[in-house]
Amino acid sequence: MPERFDTLPCRDALQRPLHDLRISVTDRCNLRCAYCMPREVFGRDFVFLHHDALLRFEEILRLARQCVALGVRKIRLSGGEPLLRRGIERLVEMLATLTTLEARPLEVAMTTNGTLLAKKARDLKNAGLARLNISLDALDEAVFQRATGGNAPLAAVLEGIAAAQAAGLAPIKINVVVKRGINEDHILPLAARFRHSGIIVRFIEFMDAGTRTGWRLDDVVAARDILATLHARYPLRALDAQYPGEVAKRWQYTDGAGEIGVIASVTQAFCHECSRLRLSTDGKLYTCLFASEGADLRAPLRAGEDDEALRNRIAAIWHARSGRYSQLRHAMRAAPTGRIEMSYIGG
Ligand code: SAM
Ligand code: SF4
Ligand code: SF4
Repeated sequence: MPERFDTLPCRDALQRPLHDLRISVTDRCNLRCAYCMPREVFGRDFVFLHHDALLRFEEILRLARQCVALGVRKIRLSGGEPLLRRGIERLVEMLATLTTLEARPLEVAMTTNGTLLAKKARDLKNAGLARLNISLDALDEAVFQRATGGNAPLAAVLEGIAAAQAAGLAPIKINVVVKRGINEDHILPLAARFRHSGIIVRFIEFMDAGTRTGWRLDDVVAARDILATLHARYPLRALDAQYPGEVAKRWQYTDGAGEIGVIASVTQAFCHECSRLRLSTDGKLYTCLFASEGADLRAPLRAGEDDEALRNRIAAIWHARSGRYSQLRHAMRAAPTGRIEMSYIGG
């Protein structure tokens, strides 16, 4: 490796280490959440990526291996809906064989909408999946349908969660995107449902990712308001972060019922600790969720570039990284145009 990449983990222009890689394995989804793939935009005529454009599992593994050699300790599979990608458990198995710089097994995680999980949970566990986040915005059928576009019953997600628990997939986290006028009344029921279950509910501020969700600041329920709602009913005590760069602020119920998290991506930016690189479904590398352009790795990969050259390419991209959109958001007069969509980059 060239001398300037000698220090590992690889650090960016703001000295942030490379620790996390998020891989979008498909840009397709069976749901149409209004804050991610609104039905009006992602309708029948929407053109998704052609099958040949998708990175094959072997290609993902090769790129992942280079990222791990540069410092990545955790890989999260996402999408679109990752469980729509045929044979996804095989990819989990392949990635779980990798070893980090600290000679520990690579942590392979997944974020899923849970609707297809009931059938897959056991296989994912057997394949070596270490962590699972399941998105669930409400426990009321009508609200769930409104939030997710009406393609699947709430019961499918609840069955998925139960199957994941039965398969021993722990820790399970529930991701709740809180959007004003849609589900802010469902914060307490969601907390109540998962208290004492060992499952950690994480409330996420609605973010202005992509360009097609009609995001408005007025629709964001600030983390401090989410916490105030929770704390008034179930007193909370702050917990320390488990590692630098942890995006969720952690809280514990003082009565011992478990833990919750709050992700304040809009009102309390955590860019200064952001250690995440993103690989799109078609092999582009993005250094920020709000980037408008990615670096194509599929072309050099398919042109036969060797591992060292690929690794140097990835290292150079991380070295040049200076993005910190969420910290600068409020100082910008207008959001950057041409931002990538969440479903393409994996959230
Ligand atoms: N389909 C899977 C799912 O929903 O869990 C994985 C992909 S989804 C893009 C990943 C995560 O991003 C989900 O937890 C989802 O709730 C979150 N997300 C999507 N759009 C969002 C937005 N505008 N603001 C905040 N979180 C969002
Ligand atoms: Fe699909 Fe996940 Fe986006 Fe909802 S958040 S539309 S489930 S990719
Ligand atoms: Fe990381 Fe970009 Fe999000 Fe900041 S805005 S936390 S740099 S992905």
